[in-house]
Amino acid sequence: MKVVESLFGKTVLVTGGSGFIGSAVVRFLMQETDWRVVNLDKLTYAACQASLSEVADNPRYHFVKGDVASESDVRGVFEAFRPDYVMHLAAESHVDRSIEGPGEFIRTNVHGTYVMLQEALRHWRSLGEEADGFRFLHVSTDEVYGSLGETGLFTEDSQVQPSSPYSASKASADHLVHAWHKTYGLPAVITNCSNNYGPYQFPEKLIPLMILKALDGQALPIYGSGLQVRDWLHVEDHARALYLALTTGEPGREYLVGGSSERTNLEVVTAICDILDARFPDSPHVPHANLMEHVADRPGHDQRYAIDSSRIQRELGWRAEHNFESGLAQ
Ligand code: NAD
Repeated sequence: MKVVESLFGKTVLVTGGSGFIGSAVVRFLMQETDWRVVNLDKLTYAACQASLSEVADNPRYHFVKGDVASESDVRGVFEAFRPDYVMHLAAESHVDRSIEGPGEFIRTNVHGTYVMLQEALRHWRSLGEEADGFRFLHVSTDEVYGSLGETGLFTEDSQVQPSSPYSASKASADHLVHAWHKTYGLPAVITNCSNNYGPYQFPEKLIPLMILKALDGQALPIYGSGLQVRDWLHVEDHARALYLALTTGEPGREYLVGGSSERTNLEVVTAICDILDARFPDSPHVPHANLMEHVADRPGHDQRYAIDSSRIQRELGWRAEHNFESGLAQ
């Protein structure tokens, strides 16, 4: 790949920028900064190019199709764009798929993170004076901490004890990032966030899946009792947290990001049904809640996740701006 000089300010390399959260990050960066944004994405089934249509023609935006687990793809991007920052989001992200076929999760999430770290290290060491400002942000999940009981919150000191192949692969990647910071000094920051929701989420995840099925009059499958609790975070609040962690976070430090919106899955699906009843009163599927159907629980299903975000609030000045009810209605 040929060297592409920047005519703009900083250059950020975002991996997985065509995915749900990555595309929100790219849109945020294009809107809020004057940076050049390079999106490295393999375009798996989870990618959605429509989510980036508003930035696709902007000369500050560059798309590179490539695999984070390929040393030559990643090295080519580092050498061509010489980024000041890396935001690493590319991953296989769906727990059910990780149970069916864990191999791709190990390849992308573990080996891919290793390749990203090695190539970032090589690049960082070549930077000279600019090395001081370089940052590698690794985006991870609260699922690495396993399950909570009825009370308590995850903090940055919680024990890592993942339950699913997905969360184990993310926990492995987090350990690698810490090791590259401690051993080689790579200026890396880690964020672990709760369940995201918002525009352009792939409809295998709870909220978009339930909306589409309900609109179509299909059964709404609820795993087990439906009493599993998740702490919902609007994707735009998450994108801002990632920007703050990248630009003002302390290397070697972790930041937990949560929406302080704990809901059971049953409450979430009921709220969706209520919104659809109000918006489509003449639908033959009213009341949509009658479509709910309990099905066998997911193996290893964590009961409750909830996050104490006080570190990122206190140290980086982040706050969630969306509330769950208006975010869901949106
Ligand atoms: P997603 O599945 O919507 O998107 C993943 C993106 O990565 C896709 O565009 C895909 O094409 C790309 N990708 C996959 N494998 C790749 C590879 N080998 N090389 C290059 N690109 C590849 O995921 P998401 O929900 O946007 O999640 C982004 C990150 O945030 C992930 O690291 C995930 O673990 C983490 N996370 C997500 C949530 C959530 O609620 N969605 C919560 C906590 C953490």
